[in-house]
Amino acid sequence: MPNLPIQLTNITDDNPNWQSNWKSDFVNTINDKQSLAKMLDLPADFVETVFGETDEKNVGEKMSDFPLKVPQKFVKKMQKGDPNDPLLLQILPTFAETVQTAGFVTDPLAEKSANPTKGIIHKYRSRVLMPITGACMVHCRYCFRQHFDYQENLPIADDWQTIVDYIEKNLDVNEVILSGGDPLSLSDRRLFAVLDTLENIPQIRTIRLHSRVPVVIPNRLDDALLKRLSSSRCQIVLVIHANHPNELDDETISYLQRAKLAGIALLNQTVLLKNINNDADILANLSEKLWQAGVLPYYLHVLDKVAGASHFYIDDAEAVAIYWQLLAKCAGYLVPKLVRETPNEPFKTPINLYEQNQSILSD
Ligand SMILES: *Cc1c(COP(=O)(O)O)cnc(C)c1O
Ligand code: SF4
Repeated sequence: MPNLPIQLTNITDDNPNWQSNWKSDFVNTINDKQSLAKMLDLPADFVETVFGETDEKNVGEKMSDFPLKVPQKFVKKMQKGDPNDPLLLQILPTFAETVQTAGFVTDPLAEKSANPTKGIIHKYRSRVLMPITGACMVHCRYCFRQHFDYQENLPIADDWQTIVDYIEKNLDVNEVILSGGDPLSLSDRRLFAVLDTLENIPQIRTIRLHSRVPVVIPNRLDDALLKRLSSSRCQIVLVIHANHPNELDDETISYLQRAKLAGIALLNQTVLLKNINNDADILANLSEKLWQAGVLPYYLHVLDKVAGASHFYIDDAEAVAIYWQLLAKCAGYLVPKLVRETPNEPFKTPINLYEQNQSILSD
């Protein structure tokens, strides 16, 4: 691979902060409701006003495993004074999470059964997924990995040789997906060590990072990181995760544009979420903003049925109705694929657009 198509150091622009300044954003996340309420000019008891009855004890118990965590930069993208802000609803722990709903389980994707060796999930022929950290910079309430046993699966030093051996025995594998948790929540030192190891496996052509960090702490994409990624022997793909156009403010867009200039392929995945983005105009708007940032919409996921997230669920009939409207609003390349992850299927399964009740379309 040739080096940079563009010398990052030569890009001139108004923002003096392209250098590392993200560490304080990593440390100073909001972890309690009171601070969140204060930043948003909301009364401290606003959770109750949004969701009615709140059982603090129940919520408290569940939240100790997956507590409130959100970077200040993401909170600043929320509308002050709006308890129903679509970004707020993605991160606010609520009573609704403690409700048990039939069919919503802790391991909806049966990932445990696709776990050939510690540190690797191999479901699809040409690529393996590696959860290299359990940490995320934001806790998304709908996340399907919220019950995943990271301790069991994080590779430690001794496991790396087994992982490399596994890949080398599976010559169809040409791509490694770094996931988590969130791979960009790792320090540069640890992340770069992983990249070094993977780049040394000749059959690996692509290294992909699945990360929400570029949306919640965009300055993580600083020059040190972009330079390392753009000098990789492999094609680097960064799949970000944005669900609503308000997540893409000017700062976020600028950092993504720089990542694109550095030769990184940028894609986005979105989860279809009730009261957040179950609306074709919102999704069309999101696609337009992504495009402005140099990011192509990749997947629109229907929600995985994970325990505690049933209040975000949109059924297939509504998902399909929204999708047909989206098709009519956007250029073809701005329409993500509508998919579901089904255990034991060899790919993310496209949702059948013709099977659902078409009468919704004529509303
Ligand atoms: C989603 C996923 C992938 C990536 O699938 P693509 O369709 O290539 O984006 C790979 N492995 C696992 C286990 C996954 O869940
Ligand atoms: S950043 Fe991704 S992995 Fe982490 S909680 Fe959110 S959706 Fe889940």
